[in-house]
Amino acid sequence: MAHLSDMEIARQAQMRPVGQIAEKLGLKEADWEPYGRYKAKVNLKLIDKMQEQPDGKLVLVTAINPTPAGEGKTTVSVGLGDALSRLGKRTAIALREPSLGPVFGVKGGAAGGGYAQVVPMDELNLHFTGDLHAITAANNLLAALLDNHIQQGNALGIDPRRVTWKRALDMNDRQLRQIVSGLGGRMQGMPREDGFQITVASEVMAIFCLAKDLKDLKKRLAAIVVGYTYAGKAVTAGDLKAEGAMCALLKDALNPNLVQTLEHTPVLIHGGPFANIAHGCNSVIATRMALKLADYVVTEAGFGADLGAEKFLDIKCRLSGLRPHCAVIVATVRALKSHGGVAKDALNEENIPALKAGLPNLLRHVRNITQVYHLPVVVALNRFPTDTQAEVDSVLEAVNALGVKAVLCDVWAKGGEGGKALAQEVLALCEKPRQALHFAYEDTLSLEEKVEAVVQKVYGGEGVDFTAAAKRELKKLEQDGFGACPVCVAKTQYSFSDDPKKLGAPEGFRVTVRSAKVSAGAGFVVVLTGDIMTMPGLPKVPAAEQIDVDEQGEITGLF
Ligand code: ADP
Ligand code: MG
Repeated sequence: MAHLSDMEIARQAQMRPVGQIAEKLGLKEADWEPYGRYKAKVNLKLIDKMQEQPDGKLVLVTAINPTPAGEGKTTVSVGLGDALSRLGKRTAIALREPSLGPVFGVKGGAAGGGYAQVVPMDELNLHFTGDLHAITAANNLLAALLDNHIQQGNALGIDPRRVTWKRALDMNDRQLRQIVSGLGGRMQGMPREDGFQITVASEVMAIFCLAKDLKDLKKRLAAIVVGYTYAGKAVTAGDLKAEGAMCALLKDALNPNLVQTLEHTPVLIHGGPFANIAHGCNSVIATRMALKLADYVVTEAGFGADLGAEKFLDIKCRLSGLRPHCAVIVATVRALKSHGGVAKDALNEENIPALKAGLPNLLRHVRNITQVYHLPVVVALNRFPTDTQAEVDSVLEAVNALGVKAVLCDVWAKGGEGGKALAQEVLALCEKPRQALHFAYEDTLSLEEKVEAVVQKVYGGEGVDFTAAAKRELKKLEQDGFGACPVCVAKTQYSFSDDPKKLGAPEGFRVTVRSAKVSAGAGFVVVLTGDIMTMPGLPKVPAAEQIDVDEQGEITGLF
């Protein structure tokens, strides 16, 4: 059977005017503003207005370590939301906003897939409501103010060699990773080494996603460390009096965006920070709003559960007070075979031994979420057309043998109908008496101990080696008052370890921390285990080559 592409399915969708979606959530006209016909911005003041209302139940969707075979977290999140709607539950989905970088690079769109998608898919992937552009502008305003300060006499004594704030662009453009700016003589600025990050790697994005409201946003923006003086003192955005104007640029963007799934389940899409140097989940504001408006809220964390869920729980939940009721761990037969050593071009063939060899990856994530975080779990086996029955059965059996339920999920092919079994299990988990969420570490541990805890408890590693530079940086951050912050580990998404080639469930490994820096406005300390790219490049054949628009204005080639 030939499958329609995601784009073709999305284009056939009968979207409802966004007002009807707002109505489903009980929104009054004063609470939202249309943004075109199928998108809206919901006023964040609604959260305060609804303070007395009880919250709905939060379901976290996460996954095994990503492989080139694809996992389908967004697809499952969307399908699960639609299945809950079909079971008569008032449901909302909260997701991240796509960045243009991956759209034109390798990944394609980020709106789910098959019959479990968010629409309008093309608009969502291209510009959407402009939030990422606003974040880019706020980031670059700060950069401009900083360099202007140096040019206009440098009263703060900023050392141009120690500026840490980078410029931003929502594009994969490796050419701009490291540049020299301010060339051309006295009137053209102070020449210095400079560089660009992709917008989703900007601390402004992380702050945007952790801020409670406008006031909190402004406070956090003011705390951003932009560089150091000649005397070694941190210089903040507040020192440059930047936070007010930055906040003004972000004011409208801070209202969550409302769209719909193919089956008209409401979706709040808002914010999308990197999952390595930042925490990788949609805004706290959107999650909190969704919990006020719906009885069940499905949300996704980036990458695998070692990065995405770890940060969702240890950073986002810790800092915001949000508490999920249960987690869904997405796995696929193909990805498990990939963890079991099968090459990408052989993934279509049945291979039970390789599948079994890859299963420990899934089982370690299950153990982590249930035993480290004390969160009930269901495994969603996201069915691909190439999976054989024997393969499906062997995954379900292996997980069920642990006393954890695994459910086949067929939402890509069947939409919400294919997710009903998963939805039933999620509902059952949400009914269970709730245990207090545990974290991987307490605030009071030292920064080094926090990293040790994540590596030992969550990654399953033996321990951490800190380079001399990393030790020094962590000490300095503690002296500067950031010792109580959670840590945000930047490491490869492909492995539990810091080596992308160690697939499955590696044991006995050590993780090397090479450097550390604070995201003071976001409120976490980033520890880097290798060279983490904050400005990706395009591949040899970029997805952009396939993207086009016809004479009717219909966009093609997004996938
Ligand atoms: P993630 O959120 O984990 O990055 P997505 O849900 O965005 O993954 O899916 C990645 C890609 O895989 C999408 O193009 C989607 O259409 C495809 N995909 C997801 N699930 C399936 C499936 N069950 N069968 C076939 N393709 C799928
Ligand atoms: Mg996704």
